[in-house]
Amino acid sequence: MKRCSRCGEEKPLSEFWKDKRKVDGLRTSCRACGSEIAKKWREKNLERARALSRKWREANIERARESNEKWRKNNLEQARASGREYYHKNKERMLDQGKKWKQRNPEKVREAARRHYRNNIEKCKERAKKYYKDAPERYRGYQRAYRERNPERPREASRRYREKNLEKCRAMGRKWSAANRGKLKEKERRAREECHDNYMKSLISKERGVRENIPQELIELKRLQVQLIRAIRKRREYGKERR
Ligand SMILES: [Zn+2]
Repeated sequence: MKRCSRCGEEKPLSEFWKDKRKVDGLRTSCRACGSEIAKKWREKNLERARALSRKWREANIERARESNEKWRKNNLEQARASGREYYHKNKERMLDQGKKWKQRNPEKVREAARRHYRNNIEKCKERAKKYYKDAPERYRGYQRAYRERNPERPREASRRYREKNLEKCRAMGRKWSAANRGKLKEKERRAREECHDNYMKSLISKERGVRENIPQELIELKRLQVQLIRAIRKRREYGKERR
């Protein structure tokens, strides 16, 4: 036990901060008094105190983070409140910073979104449904924009999936075709009429007997050829009609 020189109370040694310069290696005043003195000094010398603690934080980044986290854990409500207050006072800057951080860390953003989705699946689905119902056009535009930004991504993903689940996919395809004859016909008609890549591929593979790895250039050329032939044919029919 040791008596505090300031408040005069007798306290266990663990209640005193260490101080190498003192004979017994401990401060003369107790921890509580020390905190109070420091607090009063801080209030009187706010600018200097801030500069000092900034300097300390910069020199002790790891320790500063640790003590920050510890304080946060022990004062969760206060930490949240002061975080909110800080956010509102510096909203513009914070938003800008957040945007920049997101640009720097796209992988983390995606991971966070995934985590959020997994943890709130029902809510997210509900929200997406509502979003879609309110403005289906906007949603379609969003999907289209995503596909345009990442043309290879969905294609790659579905190709990989198909490769892994080939039998399943084939069975599903057969089942779907059997149930959707009309739709299929319509799809084929449109692919023919609009010269879709897949239609071009089917023409090329019929002619050459190759199915896989048809280069895009060849597809483009085939499309040009087909369009040209059609245009000529149309032109001839137009001529016949006029005669
Ligand atoms: Zn004391």
